[in-house]
Amino acid sequence: MEKLLVLTHVDEFGAALTAASLEAVAAGVEFASALGATLAIGIVGAHTAANNDAAANSVAGAASQILTVSGEAFAQARYASDAAACEALCRAAQATLVFAPASSRFARVVPGVAYRLSGFADTHITALAKSATQSATLEATRWFYRQRVEAVVRRDTRPWFLLLEAGTREPWVPTASAGYVQAEAVPVALPPLRTNVTGISAPRQDEQTIRPEAKILFVAGAGWTKKQADGQVHGVEAEKLILGFLHSTDASLGSSKSLVDQSGESQEVLKFMTHLNQIGQTGATPRHAKGLSTCCHGEEPHVVGWRFINERRAINLDANCGWTRGKADVVYIADAFKVMAKVNALLSEQK
Ligand SMILES: Cc1cc2nc3c(=O)[nH]c(=O)nc-3n(C[C@H](O)[C@H](O)[C@H](O)COP(=O)(O)OP(=O)(O)OC[C@H]3O[C@@H](n4cnc5c(N)ncnc54)[C@H](O)[C@@H]3O)c2cc1C
Repeated sequence: MEKLLVLTHVDEFGAALTAASLEAVAAGVEFASALGATLAIGIVGAHTAANNDAAANSVAGAASQILTVSGEAFAQARYASDAAACEALCRAAQATLVFAPASSRFARVVPGVAYRLSGFADTHITALAKSATQSATLEATRWFYRQRVEAVVRRDTRPWFLLLEAGTREPWVPTASAGYVQAEAVPVALPPLRTNVTGISAPRQDEQTIRPEAKILFVAGAGWTKKQADGQVHGVEAEKLILGFLHSTDASLGSSKSLVDQSGESQEVLKFMTHLNQIGQTGATPRHAKGLSTCCHGEEPHVVGWRFINERRAINLDANCGWTRGKADVVYIADAFKVMAKVNALLSEQK
């Protein structure tokens, strides 16, 4: 019989499990039942040992065994301490299958932990299923070659570690009557720690334009910085319209390659845009419920990055652009400057 362990960690405030951890818990509950496996949940964080701890209680009722690793050393993400914690949890649970969120904290330690336990790690898992042909066998799905090839993987090696992509399933929701859990504290033999995180340097929240949790992806293409009908470039107006929309909707900002490449060519640029915003074959493939493309031609190397955007709309002056050729659900053949000015006015009326 498989022994399934879900590895989780607390968020930056230390009290609650991350959303991606709760998604992994939901996957654990579903597949422990489907495979007839036992289920344990392992929690890594500074204060997860106490029985009335919020992180442990948030998964009450999900698994028969809750294991915690706690202490100041685990308050911060650090390879040496996190790898030791995950290894100790896997050994305590005698896990044969391990699900973990593909967070930056776990993605970098899980392959090393798999090596220590002579197991195997698969990353970027987007779906799980019970095999239709082999009983009690798990199958994992992931994409290769920039989301162009989809593979279904089965493995005999144990323990088998699966890093689950965030946003691929609904998170575990605690049952109202679940109450407190009796968590078991797992001791960890820490190696000498050479790294200490003294602070985090990050842009202010309202300067941060890449928002993986946003419902809407707003894409700006090179058209925003091209000469318009009056023969002039309207860069300042473009910035105002795009930032206005982002501020009203908390949408995430994406870009075409042409627009982010312009900064290297000394052309008119949008100052808040970097290569990290680029969507596409050589950019990101984000997951959002809806996407709105503006002033972007919708060429295949760009649109391949929209694979996981459920509902797609585009605004383009050109009725022959790529979006009109079956790549968007709705295309507005219109001037994006005028449309976005109107949209922003309607949004500010609503506020
Ligand atoms: C190997 C390779 C990899 C690539 N990888 C990527 C990638 O990862 N991501 C990516 O984006 N591209 C990628 N590209 C480039 C891609 O093929 C396109 O060149 C690029 O996406 C074009 O960007 P764009 O649509 O913003 O610019 P343009 O092609 O210049 O299109 C601008 C659009 O704006 C419209 N427009 C102008 N003014 C307005 C207005 N007022 N209102 C409405 N519409 C307006 C125009 O009609 C036009 O359609 C790659 C190319 C190659 C060869």
